[in-house]
Amino acid sequence: LSDRLTAALQTLTRKGRLSDADIDATAREIRIALLEADVALGVVKTFIARIKERAKGAEVSQALNPAQQVVKIVNEELVGILGGETRRLNLAKTPPTVIMLAGLQGAGKTTLAGKLAMWLKKQGHAPMLVACDLQRPNAVTQLQVVGERAGVVTFAPEPGNGVGDPVDVARRAIAEAKHAQHDVVVVDTAGRLGVDEELMKQAADIRDAVNPDEVLFVVDAMIGQDAVTTAEAFRDGVGFSGVVLTKLDGDARGGAALSVREVTGQPILFASNGEKLEDFDTFHPDRMASRILGMGDVLTLIEQAEQAFDQQEAEKAAEKLSSGQLTLEDFLEQMLAVRKMGPIGNLLGMLPGAGQMKDQLAQVDDKHLDKLQAIIRGMTPAERDNPKMINGSRRLRIANGSGVTVREVNDLVNRFFEARKMMAQMAGRFGFGGGGGSSK
Ligand code: GDP
Ligand code: MG
Repeated sequence: LSDRLTAALQTLTRKGRLSDADIDATAREIRIALLEADVALGVVKTFIARIKERAKGAEVSQALNPAQQVVKIVNEELVGILGGETRRLNLAKTPPTVIMLAGLQGAGKTTLAGKLAMWLKKQGHAPMLVACDLQRPNAVTQLQVVGERAGVVTFAPEPGNGVGDPVDVARRAIAEAKHAQHDVVVVDTAGRLGVDEELMKQAADIRDAVNPDEVLFVVDAMIGQDAVTTAEAFRDGVGFSGVVLTKLDGDARGGAALSVREVTGQPILFASNGEKLEDFDTFHPDRMASRILGMGDVLTLIEQAEQAFDQQEAEKAAEKLSSGQLTLEDFLEQMLAVRKMGPIGNLLGMLPGAGQMKDQLAQVDDKHLDKLQAIIRGMTPAERDNPKMINGSRRLRIANGSGVTVREVNDLVNRFFEARKMMAQMAGRFGFGGGGGSSK
């Protein structure tokens, strides 16, 4: 796929406004990428429609070609859908916090219980594992082994009492956790190879018995398209508040992440990527987005192109500053930029001694900026370019045209000359650009 996309990028290297043809061509490639990543078809369709809509209204970037721009939008949208910032685990106000794990057999619940326990321990918690998978004979032992490895206590039904009741075990475990001052309880549950009624009922019963703060739906990233039906079944049967993706160390492209997220709206909290307890991390939407797109190289390229462009702009601005060729147009732009801490704000911040000036610029409030903008817009391009030509009669015309007093126009023009002088001096002193060069 990467080759195909690279080809598409090359045919679209012309800079300028995004045309429908550009958007359609890139959207086709994205569609294929998503399907190859095993995102469910319905999810792909709504996603592509949304991307096209957004791309049409997108501002034109001078740094990127149209295909790159579309890919950038796709990536941003993906990161946004996958969660933007990672959500934290919900902790109960009065301990213990109860975290219940649900999912198909083999999804990685028991392994996750150990990983979670170790992770929680590192964060200063005192977790306890609870064995509520009494379906398979060795499930309890498996959890105990994992618990031992993580160095935490595992609550399990006493051996020799026959098959216990998982709901009863869960209830007793919570009481024990309170008694032994465990502040987080992780409840492991049974799974089936497929979704079935009995499994859902048992999980729902355990849920009602322990009243969990989080129910985590554990899903194997390798299941691809099936993620949608499985997630829907667990959403309807048990309900869940978060998702954990497992087996990301495999070659799955991670389409399940997007599908589950889109279909259930629940956030993905953690990612499992191996059999060892350390192979575990909080979920990173940006990494997953680039994995799903399979366009890591393209994304890097986009980032580099944008950085190079910013650098060019900053250099141009620095040169203008030091050569004293600043125009009123630049002046306005820079005042607006300072408010956003854009390139010029940063530039000034890097100059020692520029703090005072930055403060001055930063003090300009929105209303004032609107007025300044109106005044500058009321000037002819020639006046903006060469403010020295703005004599008395021009000032009067500008004042009348932009609904301000002549005095306000005077203020602006004077301030501009002052700022230009100051900037040129500073830039010269600190060695920016080619001009200036005065030693004091
Ligand atoms: P459960 O049935 O949901 O409790 O799943 P298990 O925790 O027993 O895991 C099923 C199998 O998947 C075991 O062999 C685990 O070692 C393995 N497994 C679990 N998580 C991961 C993972 O993130 N990566 C890999 N490669 N294997 C995993
Ligand atoms: Mg298990």
